[in-house]
Amino acid sequence: MGIQGSGKGTQSGLLCQDLDLVHISVGDILRWHIQHHTKFGAHARRTIDAGELVEDDVVETVVRDRLALHDWNYGFVIDGFPRTRPQARFFLESYDIDGVIHLDLPDAEVRRRVLARRLCSRCGLDYNLIAHRPAVADRCDVCGGELVRREDDTEQALANRLRDYHRRTDPVLELFGRKEFVVTVDARPDPATVQREIRDQLGLPPLPR
Ligand SMILES: [Zn+2]
Repeated sequence: MGIQGSGKGTQSGLLCQDLDLVHISVGDILRWHIQHHTKFGAHARRTIDAGELVEDDVVETVVRDRLALHDWNYGFVIDGFPRTRPQARFFLESYDIDGVIHLDLPDAEVRRRVLARRLCSRCGLDYNLIAHRPAVADRCDVCGGELVRREDDTEQALANRLRDYHRRTDPVLELFGRKEFVVTVDARPDPATVQREIRDQLGLPPLPR
């Protein structure tokens, strides 16, 4: 678990790579449905366009269908789920969970990272002014197009997302915490350091070099 920009996808990928776990990204699944114009996708699209989170029962169905494939040998890492308390209850009742990794990123750092994101208005390439600066300011390295902020990366939209995230997710962490599932890791350092800390806390072998 972790807020947008905390590195959930990266850290999940690193965990799955050598531990033979399957990485399940609920965001990727929803995006797949949207791209392929499934019934789910059309519904999810309308919900997201209206600025809302996709409903719990819809997300649950997507997760249940995905996990029913049972395509792993040792287990899975799921990211982007659960995002609300009802989803967390469903998850706890339906599956054996070994642990919850909480990637902790202070709001100020989320703000710094998200507000540094840029998008090429011509070719769509992503930039991050912290990690991936273009050679010429505000110009795409590949096509020379103008770099712009994503529409939903304004201060106000971000403040809303942060508030929403805490309102929904803090109770989930609290629920898991009561069951002693949660390890909290500082998500500010570089990805390799964060990964080392996750493995330390979970008693897993370090990432092979
Ligand atoms: Zn470009």
